[in-house]
Amino acid sequence: MIGFRRLFVIVVCWTRRMMVQCEDSVIRCSRRHRLKIVNVLHPFSAVVLLSVIGFLFVYDVVYVVPHILDTSGCWYWLTCLLGGFIIFNILGNWWLSFKTNTTVDSLPVERQTPAEGEAHLWHFCIACDRLVPPRSWHCRLCQGCMLKRDHHCTISGSCIGHKNQRYFICFLFHLCFGCGLALVFNGIYAWQTESLMTADPILLFSKLSAYSEDVNIDWKYTISTIFKLNMFLLVIALFMFGLQILMVHRNSTCYTIFDRSYDLGWRRNFEGVLGRRLLWTLLSPTIKSPLPNDGTQWIVKQQV
Ligand SMILES: [Zn+2]
Ligand SMILES: [Zn+2]
Repeated sequence: MIGFRRLFVIVVCWTRRMMVQCEDSVIRCSRRHRLKIVNVLHPFSAVVLLSVIGFLFVYDVVYVVPHILDTSGCWYWLTCLLGGFIIFNILGNWWLSFKTNTTVDSLPVERQTPAEGEAHLWHFCIACDRLVPPRSWHCRLCQGCMLKRDHHCTISGSCIGHKNQRYFICFLFHLCFGCGLALVFNGIYAWQTESLMTADPILLFSKLSAYSEDVNIDWKYTISTIFKLNMFLLVIALFMFGLQILMVHRNSTCYTIFDRSYDLGWRRNFEGVLGRRLLWTLLSPTIKSPLPNDGTQWIVKQQV
């Protein structure tokens, strides 16, 4: 048990250090090529994400599922409906995490300055040349201070913070759900076609397949490759989702992952991110779920 906890701490520390180092590298590079990077990297990430999700959805709904389920039966249509629901939530939450403004400037004008007696809790941002609320961090890529900044997300092309973390978490949840569902069908199909144990997909590009007696060997490589890609996506999505849940559970952020000063108990912590409707937000990104505060005032543990 102690060994597992030690391993867990090592993995989290290593991940955090890697994230900080990655962001440092990005920041150093961005100082010189900021606009070029933002203008190229964000659309590129969006295109890759949409292409992979779109391809998996079409491949499964149009090709794989009809081979497993009877297309005239209700299970086939229920699966298609569930697929549509997941895609709607992935795209909707991804879009809103990009569109939602979580900067200090998004606050009403009267809330952009400290309330009476709270100035000592705010800190000065040199880049913005102003006082900003507690837990706000400046993002050099977005060029602004973000309320309860978590991290800058290349996938959504924006900073994840107080107002849009809900959408990011729901996006990851549905990405895990969708990848998991696709993996089940892709696994069954790969098993049925005896492609599951087909060797390295790199062989697709070699001449080795020409010597195989199996006339479908190229197609089996393709099915196997898609299955492995699907598995890889699921592992990444699960890792990111798990990390987010860990931080929300502690009411911390990527850069202060071990800081539990704002930990008010799991229910209030989750309410602070998902809003008052909590898990209902998983049903649709359009569901209104007001946050308990505007991101300028934070209760610390000792005050509870
Ligand atoms: Zn700033
Ligand atoms: Zn940012």
